Amino acid sequence: ERSTVWVGKGGAGNKRVPIGPDTFTFMAGPCAVESPEQTLEAARMAQSAGATILRGGAYKPRTSPYAFQGLGVRGLEILADVGAATGMPVVTEVVDARDVPVVAEHADMLQIGTRNMANFGLLQAAGDSGMPVLLKRGMTATIEEWLMAAEYIAQRGNLDVVLCERGIRTFEPSTRNTLDISAVPVVQATSHLPVIVDPSHAAGRKDLVVPLSRAAIAVGADGIIVDVHPDPETALCDGPQALLGNDLRELAQACRRLPPVV
Ligand code: PEP
Repeated sequence: ERSTVWVGKGGAGNKRVPIGPDTFTFMAGPCAVESPEQTLEAARMAQSAGATILRGGAYKPRTSPYAFQGLGVRGLEILADVGAATGMPVVTEVVDARDVPVVAEHADMLQIGTRNMANFGLLQAAGDSGMPVLLKRGMTATIEEWLMAAEYIAQRGNLDVVLCERGIRTFEPSTRNTLDISAVPVVQATSHLPVIVDPSHAAGRKDLVVPLSRAAIAVGADGIIVDVHPDPETALCDGPQALLGNDLRELAQACRRLPPVV
């Protein structure tokens, strides 16, 4: 039987949001937390488009060590404040096992990024935290390796794992990664865990985010996670893939047109 993972503490000011077979969960927010204003504006854009979980990176694992690395603990504080202001539970990436406690203190769900999918010490620490974990597929990982990475978390007694297909590396250069849409039904046939899609990091281009989101919806994914930014031109991270305005409205419509789950 397929599982539902609940994210958020519940109670006043913070909702509990399900991710699983009975719903379609829309998560959105800035790729990186840059300032309180930018994060709040992105969160409000995301929320008005129907997103129920706020994403945002405080620790950014960048290809270049000279690129913006994130605001660290200050970024976590901003995320927690914006989560409280909007009532949205927060998912954010943790890149180092030593940071798991501080990230767990500020966020509602820990994200393990593509570059750390096989960082077994980090997976175990995330498992030990007892927090829901969003486990992205390694960009060169097979589905079996990805599911085994999830086992490292589950083995610590934490079954609150959501898998995220975010594109794999292929020979095709027109998109940053190749979205392996078939991974969604393959995983659903093999594992009880929810599986969502990140069309933003798969494509690296905003014009493909809406079509790939439609593909995720059509194939039966349990949700999507999408980058939005109030001013993508000035974004410190991944501006070309961030949605706003009409694109975001179109995405909101695509998500709303989902048939109710019976
Ligand atoms: C992200 O979601 O911020 C991110 C860096 O994603 P990925 O690990 O899939 O590249």
